[in-house]
Amino acid sequence: MHELSVCMELIDQVEAIARSHEAERVDTIVLRIGSLSGVEPGLLESAFEMARLGTVAEHASLRTERIEPRIRCRACGSEADAGPSDLRCPACSGTDTVLIAGDEMILARVELLQAVE
Ligand SMILES: [Zn+2]
Repeated sequence: MHELSVCMELIDQVEAIARSHEAERVDTIVLRIGSLSGVEPGLLESAFEMARLGTVAEHASLRTERIEPRIRCRACGSEADAGPSDLRCPACSGTDTVLIAGDEMILARVELLQAVE
């Protein structure tokens, strides 16, 4: 399952962040997921339920936000939002476009709980 390995990597990152801040545990993880990233938010959330067990993120809640695809046209230089299956330039109808957002997954925020002295 692709989402589970994505989650394992995510938790590795979160654990490193928690360690560097000497946090007791992780409260909230906010992820931004591109709609063309191939990661299905619903599957990711259920994989997270499994992957977090026994880690510092065991009681953390996971929130996901969606990133819509955006393209830049190499022919005319304009940037535009793109549909999921149409990456043509809306300004000149050119097909020589590059995806500049929408295929990434970003760890946007990690909220930590510090140990109380
Ligand atoms: Zn164009």
